[in-house]
Amino acid sequence: MSIPVSGPAGWPESGQPESGQPQRAWLAELAWSPALGLRTDVLLEAAGGRLTAVVPDADQVPAAATRLPGLTMPGLANAHSHAFHRALRGVTQSARGTFWTWRERMYEVADRLDPDSYLALATAVYAEMTLAGVSCVGEFHYLHHDPGGARYSDPNQMGRSLIEAARRAGLRITLLDTCYLSGGLAADGRQQPLEGAQLRFGDADAADWAARATALAPNSVGQLAAHARVGAAIHSVRAVPPDQMHEVVAWTQNYGAPLHAHVSEQVAENRACIAAHRATPAEVLSQAGAIGPRSTAVHATHLSGSDIELLGGSRCHACFCPTTEADLADGIGPARSLADAGSPLTLGSDSHAVIDLLEEARRVELGERLVTQERGHFTAFELAAAATVSGHASLGWPEAGEFVPSALADFCTVALDSPRTAGATAATALESVIFGASAADVRHLVVAGREVVADGRHVLVPDVPAALSAAIAAVLH
Ligand SMILES: [Zn+2]
Repeated sequence: MSIPVSGPAGWPESGQPESGQPQRAWLAELAWSPALGLRTDVLLEAAGGRLTAVVPDADQVPAAATRLPGLTMPGLANAHSHAFHRALRGVTQSARGTFWTWRERMYEVADRLDPDSYLALATAVYAEMTLAGVSCVGEFHYLHHDPGGARYSDPNQMGRSLIEAARRAGLRITLLDTCYLSGGLAADGRQQPLEGAQLRFGDADAADWAARATALAPNSVGQLAAHARVGAAIHSVRAVPPDQMHEVVAWTQNYGAPLHAHVSEQVAENRACIAAHRATPAEVLSQAGAIGPRSTAVHATHLSGSDIELLGGSRCHACFCPTTEADLADGIGPARSLADAGSPLTLGSDSHAVIDLLEEARRVELGERLVTQERGHFTAFELAAAATVSGHASLGWPEAGEFVPSALADFCTVALDSPRTAGATAATALESVIFGASAADVRHLVVAGREVVADGRHVLVPDVPAALSAAIAAVLH
């Protein structure tokens, strides 16, 4: 098929990609979304980057409609990413260790990046994500300053590299600008100073962080560019003292922006937090006003029963990153209990040990099976909702992740004729995709009504593996 490409590679530099685009139409052989359910012969029409019609069982199809064999679903939201961790794939797999020994390797890579090398690496990583069906990434960004901790001439230069990388790769980004003030909690609970690679993560205090984040110049609703919105993150209770958290919370309230935080990823983090504050990480965050419907607790692995009630009762999202949590030997979080308590689940590829949201989705269910020795805790529908509508909501894009008129025209198509998915029936196609397909089965991705991936090829980044190889070699050697 021919691929329409206009203008410079990537998202238009300025102006709304949502305006001025002609009417487009696609006919999905099978389509699923939370609102639509699973339907056949679904006509999707878009103009100005938004869906204008969603018609199941369509019998009148425009001749120019692009046919989409396979299962088409809303674009996937990768709700937790640290783009530079992708450089560590494979290289940290050769020895025994823990989260903490892995972190030392991660810091070595963090130490080598500058705004140009990060732009190249993140562009390649985000291109890999789009090939996996991801239309929106939440970038939990703390690599702010130069390796000694001095500010670049533009103190947000690294964040701007990430925003530009997303534009070049063709996906939406929520830049979760991360407050990171201290180097950790000692076993006795004392907050430790930043040192080594951490120096470049830090701002002087939360007010200093807020001034820098404001200099990103979001508009009143947090929009940074047509494809980019701003959010904030409290790195963790290890990195932000409780008396500094209010400033970050207040900043997000100004913009109605998302607020994310790593929560109870490690048992040692809980122990130190309780020693320091006589409260769990979830309790400390809650007392600071940082838990609520705009918030996301990332990992939420080692929670008490009251933590689960606290997070769920506030409708705080819980972002599970099961491949990273397995890779780092973190543990298996209480996904079903959190969902039952009221927390919408979302998914992230976090350290990018792999980038495959379908695998993240099924591992939520498979983790529950391993813990309980019973099957059937989450339906494919629930897992797909986590990957789509809930993930987008947690990143501040509530108008994405659904097939309804006026929603953003972001969707991906998964092949049902690959070695992994062949034999799928129409009735159980969603189960085949969630439990059997992989990122390699994503054939098509449309973002804002534009093809980003067509027939398995990236439209904007011509050779994604070569881009990854070059960018990773530049920071590892
Ligand atoms: Zn993380």
